[in-house]
Amino acid sequence: MSRDPRYDLLFEPVRIGPVTARNRFYQVPHCAGMGHREPSASAAMRAMKAEGGWAVVCTEECDIHPASEFSPYAEARLWDDRDIPALARMAEAVQSHGALAGIELAFNGAAAPNRFSREIPLAPSDTVVEPYDPVQARAMDKSDIRDLRRWHRAAALRARKAGFDIVYVYAGHDLGLPMHFLSRRHNRRGDEYGGSLENRARLLRELIEDTKEAVGDRCAVAVRLAVEELLGEDGLTAEAEGREVIELLAELPDLWDVNVSGWRNDSQTARFGPEGAQEAYVAFVKQVTSKPVVGVGRFTSPDAMVSQIKRGVLDLIGAARPSIADPFLPRKIEEGRPEEIRECIGCNICVTGDNDIVPLRCTQNPTMGEEWRRGWHPEIVPPKASDDRVLVVGGGPAGLECARAAGQRGYAVTLAEAGRALGGRVSLESRLPGLASWARVRDYRLACLAALPEVEIYRESRLDATQILEFGFEQVILATGSAWRRDGIGRAIRRPLQGCERPGVLTPDDLLTGTRPAGPVLIYDDDHYYLGGVLAEKLRRDGLEVTLVTPAPDVSHWTHNTLEQNSIQKRLLELEVALRPQQGLSAIHDGEAELACVFTGRRQRLPAASVVLITARTPKDQVYRALMRRPEALAEAGITSLRRIGDCLAPGTIAAAVYGGHRAAREIDQKQYGEFQREVVALSQGWPPFVPARLG
Ligand code: ADP
Ligand code: SF4
Repeated sequence: MSRDPRYDLLFEPVRIGPVTARNRFYQVPHCAGMGHREPSASAAMRAMKAEGGWAVVCTEECDIHPASEFSPYAEARLWDDRDIPALARMAEAVQSHGALAGIELAFNGAAAPNRFSREIPLAPSDTVVEPYDPVQARAMDKSDIRDLRRWHRAAALRARKAGFDIVYVYAGHDLGLPMHFLSRRHNRRGDEYGGSLENRARLLRELIEDTKEAVGDRCAVAVRLAVEELLGEDGLTAEAEGREVIELLAELPDLWDVNVSGWRNDSQTARFGPEGAQEAYVAFVKQVTSKPVVGVGRFTSPDAMVSQIKRGVLDLIGAARPSIADPFLPRKIEEGRPEEIRECIGCNICVTGDNDIVPLRCTQNPTMGEEWRRGWHPEIVPPKASDDRVLVVGGGPAGLECARAAGQRGYAVTLAEAGRALGGRVSLESRLPGLASWARVRDYRLACLAALPEVEIYRESRLDATQILEFGFEQVILATGSAWRRDGIGRAIRRPLQGCERPGVLTPDDLLTGTRPAGPVLIYDDDHYYLGGVLAEKLRRDGLEVTLVTPAPDVSHWTHNTLEQNSIQKRLLELEVALRPQQGLSAIHDGEAELACVFTGRRQRLPAASVVLITARTPKDQVYRALMRRPEALAEAGITSLRRIGDCLAPGTIAAAVYGGHRAAREIDQKQYGEFQREVVALSQGWPPFVPARLG
């Protein structure tokens, strides 16, 4: 297929200082939970994007010195020459596919508590370290500034030695130290590095000049700058100082990578912002500089990308999440098949990997993070190893992905779904406020399935054990999902809740399938992910009086990991949902709910015509258990493999269900289940322990 000429523009090369990007697709630096701990995994993951057509592929932030390190988070590291080989592996892997490799050198100052190195963090002025570490940073004197410049220069030289094409100076996300110097909020200095904006920009200018002088002959020097902090007068703004910094340094770097700070604003989820949401803030940059500009916006639509270029907003289409959800996004556009793009849904499950300090994962792309350790490719699966016929029962995220990947392998697959609609929970949940893009999990898979003649889909086909035995497929995979518990049992309540059988006690399943509760409604959230908060939002928008009760310290507590908690709590407060954190639910009475403080046990009653229990889910595994009770019948029917996947195996995230479905499809006919390789770091030469030189 040939490319739509409307998209030709996206495939023009772009000169960046001494190097040239082969097209306009640019994977901006993004965390991956791998960093210096998983260098091979990191290299394989980034290389996959280069293979998929991204012209530039960058590292995550790379700590340059133990005086600023982000332990326990797994970032890249370039403290000394011993760190070069790990990063060289990534640069080479990326370049082997014709892409440029970029590295984001970072010194985070007061944003890094130095939990590992125990060095005192450095800052423009004495200040606390955020968020809550009992650590303060000290004001840098001139010799500290000289040291920092020396460390940064040395790291740039090492980056060049490792083979990188683009070397960053990082002043983004309220993290990079040069950004702290820029900020009146952080910089209270009275010397030539404080006061006027020109003075506050001095360190950034010096670092750019140092880096250019050190490596600029061969490497492009990029600056990542947050031009807007969304803090009003307390921060950089696109109208005032964010703009003035770019004006001051306009032609100095080879590339401007601009965004909105902090990280949660930059990586806003779909629930809180649309594709292209940063345009209003970064659009000015190209008016001010002749250098190429890259920016992000969760871009998955080639038309939106073309529009960014044509309207002079960006030169390069930056992406973190769209490149995670679909490493082959550029190639799909280039080869005239943009409808095959696996579009990011904007859920930030990828970010949770980094926050949990484990390799990233993705709701849409089950192979993300598995490129090296399992050898998974997002576009290629091994061909089938037998003529077994596969029955997948249940058409939710797990079943759809399993059928899709098994069909791609060439197996004859039959997918049976009880309901009329496919998509399971994503079809239901995507109707909730702000979650419309989650339907992409279903839609991408349905589009793939439509192109697979080996897969037959039967709707309105609820199967029981007897029918499955009659059909006699060799491979049976059950993806029948789960149901929310009605008895309150979850993390905080371990025995059925008193009063849970009363009328007016509901679960998310009731609400998602159309039950309208009577108000006032009390939502009890012991699940702590998005559902409690989003159902409270929906019911409140429907005009009901809503109280959200949770034993956690704040609402939707786990969404700290998706960077959404703050936005969720703000929205609920603005909608006047009554919030009762740190409260358990001890009983449900007629028209009332009884709460208990999680610390003191002190009780209080609240009026509640309806109580929605969001606690835990029970796997819908009755069919599985009925089949397992009849091993002879299974053998007689010729069923050689019977497996459960997704929520039917153990309720979890949509990402886990998609991953489970994908893995099951790859493991059909495999002898060994669940194998993966791991990085084993060579033992240090430094044994016995370090003996410092003694005085005298
Ligand atoms: P998961 O997240 O694991 O994919 P979901 O709950 O989203 O789980 O989807 C499960 C799907 O399985 C639902 O669409 C449901 O209607 C379907 N299902 C459940 N039991 C059966 C059954 N016995 N036969 C066919 N489909 C079923
Ligand atoms: Fe997009 Fe969600 Fe995948 Fe992250 S995890 S890339 S937000 S679909």
